[in-house]
Amino acid sequence: MDWIDLRSDTVTRPTPAMREAMARAEVGDDVYGEDPTVNALQHRLAVKLGFEDALFVPSGTQANLIALMAHCQRGDEYLVGMDAHTYKFEGGGAAVLGSIQPQPIPNAGDGSLPLATVEAAIKPLDPHFARSRLLCLENTWHGRPLTLDYLRDARALCDRRGLRLHLDGARLFNAAVALQIPARDIAQFFDSVSVCFSKGLGAPVGSVLCGSRALIDEARRWRKVCGGGWRQAGMLAAACLHALDHHIERLAEDHTRAARLAAGLRGLPAIKLVGQHTNMVFIEVASAHLPAFRVHMEAAGVKLSIGYLPNIRMVTHLDIDDAAVERALTALRSFAP
Ligand SMILES: *Cc1c(COP(=O)(O)O)cnc(C)c1O
Repeated sequence: MDWIDLRSDTVTRPTPAMREAMARAEVGDDVYGEDPTVNALQHRLAVKLGFEDALFVPSGTQANLIALMAHCQRGDEYLVGMDAHTYKFEGGGAAVLGSIQPQPIPNAGDGSLPLATVEAAIKPLDPHFARSRLLCLENTWHGRPLTLDYLRDARALCDRRGLRLHLDGARLFNAAVALQIPARDIAQFFDSVSVCFSKGLGAPVGSVLCGSRALIDEARRWRKVCGGGWRQAGMLAAACLHALDHHIERLAEDHTRAARLAAGLRGLPAIKLVGQHTNMVFIEVASAHLPAFRVHMEAAGVKLSIGYLPNIRMVTHLDIDDAAVERALTALRSFAP
């Protein structure tokens, strides 16, 4: 069956042109810092986002983990959204591997962490408490871009209270494209930013962490400790460089297709449209109808993400064209429990 996979934008496969770029890549041993393609990617993203340095790593989870470990010492604390990826979907790595205590803050509906709540959760300097060291935000959050005004206020709070500020920017470029601003305008507020290339940008593997030279030196050490020191990774970096050249502006197409998908769902009796943000559409199906819904969509060749979030999620990406949106809509519209 020719599946339409809307579960996540992680499912994209490298295009023929991307594979060609990978095959042509010049490589070296990256643990020695000698892979020219990795170095080019790191330099290019650092400059693009306005940082001194950057580090190419296997996954977004590792980028966030080593960022937290570079910012925080054992017994420090990071403040983070209760529904944030770093807190909820990364196996508790900061606590497990970094001895960093999370202080979860309930996310507001727009993905922000209300700053009064954040401030109230900062611990006094006292041996009773973990040392509050870092605030971690996520952008986009379930597809929602955070506003620049909010980011400015979050930065001001961190400066006033002596916190560092990290961005889980797995989908930073989706936010930038949606707000029609350079990604750097978002990144400017942060001490470090992680970006995933294996989501909407379409690379098979890889994330990049950006920060100051000192922070990246520390993160490079932790990457090695976490088993992420890789060798001829230039073939993977070449895919990311290709994505920077060819797959950023086109994210707007994913957003348009998600909007079309959402628009096509209005007024259906058994499927409730909950919301659409950038490349994500959220729907609700009554739990009594859920088993039948699964079977119906499977039979139509459409995969969606059921069970990880309160709502069912559909994500558009590089491998979803207009015809796929129409086929998915036909399947969704014909669901009659
Ligand atoms: C996917 C994702 C990550 C990292 O995931 P990996 O699968 O480890 O690359 C981090 N944060 C957010 C918000 C994500 O969506």
